Amino acid sequence: MTQQVRVRFAPSPTGLLHIGGARTAIYNWAFARRAGGVFVLRIDDTDPERSTPENTEQILRSMRWLGLDWDEGPEVDGAYGPYFQMKRAAHYAEALESLKASGHTYPCFCTQEELEAKRAAARSGESSGGYDGTCRRLGSDVARERIDAGESCVWRLAVPQDRGEIVVDDVVRGETVFPAMSVDDFVLVRSDGTPTYNFATVVDDAAMAITHVIRGDDHLSNTPKQVLVFEALDAAVPQFAHLSMILGPDGKKLSKRHGATSVEAFHDEGILPEALLNYLALLGWSLDGETTIISAETLQENFALERISKNPAIFDVEKLEWMNGVYIREMSPEQLVERMVPWLAEAGLGTRETLGARRAWLEELAPLVSERVKRMTEIAPAVTFLFGDAVEIDPVAADKALAAEGAPGVLEAATAALDGVTAWTAEGIEAALRSLPEALGMKPKPVFQAVRVAVTGSLVSPPLFESLALLDRTVALRRLRAAAELARSR
Ligand code: GLU
Repeated sequence: MTQQVRVRFAPSPTGLLHIGGARTAIYNWAFARRAGGVFVLRIDDTDPERSTPENTEQILRSMRWLGLDWDEGPEVDGAYGPYFQMKRAAHYAEALESLKASGHTYPCFCTQEELEAKRAAARSGESSGGYDGTCRRLGSDVARERIDAGESCVWRLAVPQDRGEIVVDDVVRGETVFPAMSVDDFVLVRSDGTPTYNFATVVDDAAMAITHVIRGDDHLSNTPKQVLVFEALDAAVPQFAHLSMILGPDGKKLSKRHGATSVEAFHDEGILPEALLNYLALLGWSLDGETTIISAETLQENFALERISKNPAIFDVEKLEWMNGVYIREMSPEQLVERMVPWLAEAGLGTRETLGARRAWLEELAPLVSERVKRMTEIAPAVTFLFGDAVEIDPVAADKALAAEGAPGVLEAATAALDGVTAWTAEGIEAALRSLPEALGMKPKPVFQAVRVAVTGSLVSPPLFESLALLDRTVALRRLRAAAELARSR
């Protein structure tokens, strides 16, 4: 029987969920789903100063928003809990006891000053660097006495002297060799009894029966240390897959300088979760090298670690926007209305209730904007002119279209033509307005520009005839008359 795949995403709740972390979560999730395995969410909250419940809540919220459901972890629990490291002290204590019993750890009494002096000596070339093993050479009786006398100590891993180089067969990076010298007897448990990251992580990964560790390659240098802890605990070493960093367009590590980087910020800026999921999934992984639009289902059915790229990925916000636009366009009017109502409400164009009551009208409006926007935030500004009676006219548009020669006459003629339309539909409106330029002896452009500015307030808007059809006729006529007056006063 093959072992069940168990993977974990283990964020530290020291800040928002960023897209690098989100991509790691997506890969773990997709890998578990593809393998019919288990996706564990573990909260690495061992840094008491920077970890907060709000950050944890925000990470869970961002994951839920992206559609990443976890099988074990906060709120769902599971057989391997608790899933907060702060609640797992007993596991670390027990693991330390077992390492003491097997001789894989020893207490170290060196003070900070002594360690600093050793490091300074190392820097001046007198030793190889790393911990020099002073306390490893203390007899166990001496060590016992010092502990019993109340002297404070940390616990270090006794790296086997004959261990040799540590070879990790990383799924993404291939065989990665760490020379034996690169790992010293590092600290497992601090003098206050708290475990270090490299110890807590391994104790938990072992206790939670994690089979694959998929994470950012900023943890690559920790990997040989963790391998040694797995070995000391006599636990199976999981398969590692280290993901290359996400870089900004300038080739530097992605950071705030490059704009939004948290999942929440992308939400606030009108990116859809399915687009962000799709975009991040392809940031370092590909289905077949060409498919760009991939649903969560396709991802779950096809994700494979072998197709993860070794090269750093460049975060390209324009590509994300493009993809978001594709998702917006592919929605049916019903779906788009469902998704845009919160954004319209947020922009003050109504409440969810009043907007909900205008569903049929909104469904006619949806196709007019879906072709033109790339972010959900762009919808409200594009359709504000369809709400309310009067429209605010952009001064630049007024200068261009309403101050032009003949504008008052155009607007009066348009008012009269629309007043006589029998069927107030896009077709009926078009039929009434199409003949205006000829009747006025003008070119079409200035005619329709004046009408557009009068009705929409702007030189750029969704299609004019369809927009007019979405307005009440009385509102449309009132706007035309008001604009005619404005044009005359110019
Ligand atoms: N809490 C660690 C982090 O957020 C987890 C690293 C790991 O996956 O081992 O970087």
